[in-house]
Amino acid sequence: MNVSHRLSGLTGGGSDGWDVFYKARAMKAAGTPVVELTIGEHDIRTSPAILDEMHRAARAGHTGYAAVPGIPDLRATVAARVQARTGVPTGPQNVVITPGGQSALFAAHMAALDPGERALYLDPYYATYPGTIRGAGGVAVSVPTQSEADFQPTRAALDAALGDAPARSLLINTPNNPTGVIYGAETLGIIADFTCANDMWLISDEVYDTQVWDGAHLSPRALPGMAERTLVVGSMSKSHAMTGSRVGWLVGPEDIIAHLINLSTHTTYGVPGFLQDAALWALRQGDAFEAEIAAPFRRRRDQTLVQINAQDIVRALPSGGAMYLMLDVRATGLSGEAFADALLDAHHIATMPGESFGASAAGHIRLALTVDDAALRSAVETLLQFAAHLASKAA
Ligand code: PMP
Repeated sequence: MNVSHRLSGLTGGGSDGWDVFYKARAMKAAGTPVVELTIGEHDIRTSPAILDEMHRAARAGHTGYAAVPGIPDLRATVAARVQARTGVPTGPQNVVITPGGQSALFAAHMAALDPGERALYLDPYYATYPGTIRGAGGVAVSVPTQSEADFQPTRAALDAALGDAPARSLLINTPNNPTGVIYGAETLGIIADFTCANDMWLISDEVYDTQVWDGAHLSPRALPGMAERTLVVGSMSKSHAMTGSRVGWLVGPEDIIAHLINLSTHTTYGVPGFLQDAALWALRQGDAFEAEIAAPFRRRRDQTLVQINAQDIVRALPSGGAMYLMLDVRATGLSGEAFADALLDAHHIATMPGESFGASAAGHIRLALTVDDAALRSAVETLLQFAAHLASKAA
């Protein structure tokens, strides 16, 4: 029996730059110690206090089918949080709780696209983006950005990707995975103008909104006229180290949320109640709780930038947030993939090749700042010496 084209064509096929990751995992499984700077997952686990609440809620009987749109208190708390942070009036009717941000990304594209319609996304991109668009029946169209312009999208690149054919949506992510870059008011203004001019949905992935190192997080939904065409993806995964709990949400216009609740009824049937209770409890702990979870990434970003600024072979992209640093290693003469592979072989340090996040990040590697400060410092020292050695050979 044949599988549908929708599923067989979900991922692009061919080498996608993930070979280094799998090789590192195989080395580890075989007993070789590897410093893994690959996956965006905290080096701490979910707080025991959140687990206590999860346990309490489950023991109290919240183990049956939960309200499909999300439990009312959680929807209201997410709405209040979004309103407080963006100034945009937001109520529970604007929120649907989903099993993680990934499910919200899929739901957003299901809302925006009819089969065969084009959907834009920015390159470099979070690994699932093109497959999520295809899974929702769309045609994924990448918009390149340039390392030299700090991976900020330009109007010219957006217009060129659009060409003469219409597109229904543009997917953005700030703070950005994989680059760590933030879109400021100027970039968000360009994006907003572009989506308005072309009557497109803006799907704004803001799962790293608590990991902003300078200033406050800016959401494009707060820009004039944007609330009616913006769908915001949020999640407990990164803000509360709850990656495995699968609690996220989508925020948008009430009529669209009503349709997406209908989609939930026919796909996930909601999120387990005891996990929603735990998420609610965690959100009610306030900003300090979240700041504590984000703090190690900022500290590690700062210490790594000091190391990188002391040499001139490897360039760090300006990192304004998220748990990553993107490094330009082109001065070594190697591709990101070849560099990451050679670093793994020579020093057992695993990084993600930029190529695994799209062609725009070729010649780069991404570091996830997810090992302790001392291990990270020593791995970065080795990485920089390795790059200097390669660059001297290339010269
Ligand atoms: N968006 C981005 C940019 C991510 O990095 C991730 C997870 N790595 C997600 C969405 C999905 O996160 P989750 O489903 O755990 O909320």
